[in-house]
Amino acid sequence: MDIALWDAAARFLELPVGRLLGRVHKSVPLYGSGGFTNQTIRELETQLDTWVREQGIPRVKMKIAERDGSAIDRDLTRIRAARSLIGDDVELYVDANDGYSPGQARRVVRHLEQYDVRWFEEPVTSDNLVGLARLRQATTVDIAAGEYGYDLVYFARMVGAGAVDCLQVDVTRCGGYTEWARAAAVAAAAGLEVSAHCAPNLSTHVAVATPNFRHIEWFADHDRIEKIFFDGVLDPTGGTVSPDLSAAEHGMLLKRQDVAQYLVSP
Ligand SMILES: [Mg+2]
Repeated sequence: MDIALWDAAARFLELPVGRLLGRVHKSVPLYGSGGFTNQTIRELETQLDTWVREQGIPRVKMKIAERDGSAIDRDLTRIRAARSLIGDDVELYVDANDGYSPGQARRVVRHLEQYDVRWFEEPVTSDNLVGLARLRQATTVDIAAGEYGYDLVYFARMVGAGAVDCLQVDVTRCGGYTEWARAAAVAAAAGLEVSAHCAPNLSTHVAVATPNFRHIEWFADHDRIEKIFFDGVLDPTGGTVSPDLSAAEHGMLLKRQDVAQYLVSP
């Protein structure tokens, strides 16, 4: 609703949403995200290759912590394969989706440093703020979390506990653009940046209006679905995006005919 109201306001004022929100960046970085643990190494390599070589995206993220951390050796094999495919100059991130115990996360993080992994997302459950904070103190890898935040208090607690190096915010969960700006201010007060979790095309508009912004998660499945549903979606090629400032509102148009097949009858 909040995002729809910003869209309506932008339509009324004939402005792009990013400009109405107070754009401060011309463009913002993004990273390719996917790399599910059920992919074979070959499938993982193909996806990484698409982002890095075809699209020129210099940051990629893959999932780890298969079977709740009971397959650490396989996790490390996949990370090794990823690093060797993408080379030394591409930033490699991993997301454990709350999958490790604190002990497992401490063991894994030593290997992450060895492979120059820059980002360790949800190493342990995001409810364990002390566990996140302890791991953060023990490593040079950035610890990230926050995608499950539905209200400002959640973000304030996470930042206040010293649990993260970068606060993740999902614009479709946090309460829309209005609450996003307040969450970003909480992070800024602690000297932290924010990163957008999923919903890449919506996130771009609020990202360019956020001073302490790091990057957008350009999630493979969202990218695919948004392309099916909308005209005017952004192209992640090159690793940065900027909203179309010549178009009003979000600059995206629902493809009514194409989406009709997904209509659910009451
Ligand atoms: Mg995640």
